Amino acid sequence: MITVEEALARVLALAAPLPTETVPLRRAAGRVLAAPATATLTQPPFSASAMDGYWIDAADHRPGAVLRVAGQSAAGRGWTAPVAQGQALRIFTGAPVPRDGGVVVLQENVTREGDTITLPQTLDTQDNIRPRGQDFAQGDQLAAPRKLDARALGLLAAMNVPEVSVYRRPVVAIIATGDELVMPGEAPGPDQILCSNSFALAALAEAAGAEVRMLPIARDTEASLRMVFDLAQGADLIVTSGGASVGEHDLVGQVATDLGLERAFWKIAMRPGKPSMAGRMGDAAMLGLPGNPVSALVCAHLFLRPMLAAMQGLAPTQTTARAVLGTDTGPTGPRTHYMRARLTATDGLPVITPFGSQDSALLGILAEADALLIRPLGDGPRRAGEVVDYLPI
Ligand code: AMP
Ligand code: MG
Repeated sequence: MITVEEALARVLALAAPLPTETVPLRRAAGRVLAAPATATLTQPPFSASAMDGYWIDAADHRPGAVLRVAGQSAAGRGWTAPVAQGQALRIFTGAPVPRDGGVVVLQENVTREGDTITLPQTLDTQDNIRPRGQDFAQGDQLAAPRKLDARALGLLAAMNVPEVSVYRRPVVAIIATGDELVMPGEAPGPDQILCSNSFALAALAEAAGAEVRMLPIARDTEASLRMVFDLAQGADLIVTSGGASVGEHDLVGQVATDLGLERAFWKIAMRPGKPSMAGRMGDAAMLGLPGNPVSALVCAHLFLRPMLAAMQGLAPTQTTARAVLGTDTGPTGPRTHYMRARLTATDGLPVITPFGSQDSALLGILAEADALLIRPLGDGPRRAGEVVDYLPI
């Protein structure tokens, strides 16, 4: 049995960054930028009005000044003729100002009669102009690696970057194992249950940027497992669930070893999730998770997500947060306990309260939980009010 930290180090050693590819911006959401992207222009490319109103020369910006409107500058259709001192230019948000040295007076602050405007008695202290290059300059870069979210995509589009270099998405083959499993939509026999792990793991992997191949359920026979492992060929990462324990029907480790698995570890000092394994199988990494649905998903949070981040060139950070314990908890044994818990917001740190039942088969409780309370191995009892660490889920 190894610690969670050691297990994480070993799974990360199996997860090198994948090759990069170029994709159009429209396909880049959720991908990880592999090389810096460079702005091909300056934004805004001209000094522009930030408001609807009237552009005037700064020298005319006096309380009660009366000015004649000489023309108009709209977004996309600027005014090209000169605007002299004593004149005003009707201007709209995003429209170019005619030259430097002016201010924009908000339309709601002037009185307009025919062709003339009268400025208010109290003047605005701002010029309401966005200077050229205020946002970014040609040659400025968006640094890599970085996950491309809505903000980054908006920036790249504004930078006139039509395509970007991104890490290839990790292809993850998901294999559920067990004679008792049927797929959702099928009618389970009297001794059967639904295969939920493949769906939970696929959702988690896809949210972490993977392309998922959900393979057929492998039965608890060597032949069936071999067949399904064979279908996983070409994947970057093979994730199994179930069959990893010590029972007669737990054949995953043995079959994977027969197929060339170089095991990095088997068994982690954690609760739930002890019988997990990982290693290398040919060109792919292999992560063998326990069958219990909560164990599988907790391990996926702790190990699968960081592996997928690393394969996409990101630093695999596991962000724990702090909360105040809402109830007394007993000592932990020789394994780190990840307790399903609920968070309650307060003015300060949130309060964290573990659920009464921590059975690793309870998906209903997991679905209601918003945190895993981390109880380090060997830790003594903790009282309500103490500050503890948790993992948001
Ligand atoms: P195992 O690790 O194969 O001994 O499975 C442990 C428990 O998890 C058993 O109760 C299995 O029925 C259950 N289990 C295994 N695989 C799945 C799955 N894909 N979906 C839901 N439950 C599962
Ligand atoms: Mg099983």
